[in-house]
Amino acid sequence: MTTAIAITGACGRMGKMLVESVHTNKATSLAGALEHPGSNLIGNDAGEIAGVGRIGVPVLGDLSSIISRTEVIIDFSTPSATLANAQICADNGTPIVVGTTGFSDEEKQQLTELSSKIPMCIAANYSTGLNISLKLLELAAKAVDEDVDIEIVEAHHRHKVDAPSGTALAMGETIAKARNLDFKEFALFAREGITGARRKDTIGFSTVRGGDVVGDHTVMFMADGERLEVTHKASNRMAFAHGAVRAATWLVKKEPGVYDMQDVLGLS
Ligand code: NAP
Repeated sequence: MTTAIAITGACGRMGKMLVESVHTNKATSLAGALEHPGSNLIGNDAGEIAGVGRIGVPVLGDLSSIISRTEVIIDFSTPSATLANAQICADNGTPIVVGTTGFSDEEKQQLTELSSKIPMCIAANYSTGLNISLKLLELAAKAVDEDVDIEIVEAHHRHKVDAPSGTALAMGETIAKARNLDFKEFALFAREGITGARRKDTIGFSTVRGGDVVGDHTVMFMADGERLEVTHKASNRMAFAHGAVRAATWLVKKEPGVYDMQDVLGLS
């Protein structure tokens, strides 16, 4: 028995990877490929768009039309599209794996409220390596000296529209939690001009945008006389796609609620 998965945002950069990952994984089958109703790719074969050849799954514009034959949705699209799709999932009792980033606090709350009805996995980064690095960050943040300075540097391709990356924010939140700090109070997103000396306990963010960088994250723990760096580099978006598909097959057996990739990997 394979897990029937539908992909929303199926013609996007991540969507195409997800179509390939689901199609080539022996444990999963592609139950549907969705785009927004106005897309000029509606009706085309999802496999051809993904570059894996014809697979007989047309791109459709209406999630409701295929939801009854879908065990789980994987959504990497836009915050507003994900919210609308999550509502359809909640109405139909279908689990959803959310990869979209850039939600406002209000959108995040609307999304998680739907988890009272369905299992929902939300992660800013579905790569296995990155999620192991979150665990390492938690360990380091608890163990380093109290007066250590912490900075998060991230780099992504020129097309990325949100900053800092959802992954960088997740790293900062992980560190703040481990150090019993209020993330919103201690996160420092920009410096310019006469900034004064570094405030104790702040978690600084630096953003680099350009080229085709898939996703680099380095967290520096800087103390007097030594510096620890935890770095993760994604060289291919397929790492996120495989992780999201792994999350989808895991999620179908779960009770309603919000889960993350740490749960999927047994690291929580
Ligand atoms: P992208 O190439 O712009 O893809 C987004 C896709 O969603 C586009 O094909 C877009 O169509 C489509 N879309 C828009 N509205 C839709 C709707 N109502 N229903 C279905 N599809 C809709 O972006 P991407 O690089 O794939 O990234 C997508 C999201 O995933 C971003 O938020 C990104 O930050 C996030 N991401 C997360 C991870 C992770 O591991 N969590 C990894 C990579 C990326 P049009 O182009 O026609 O508007």
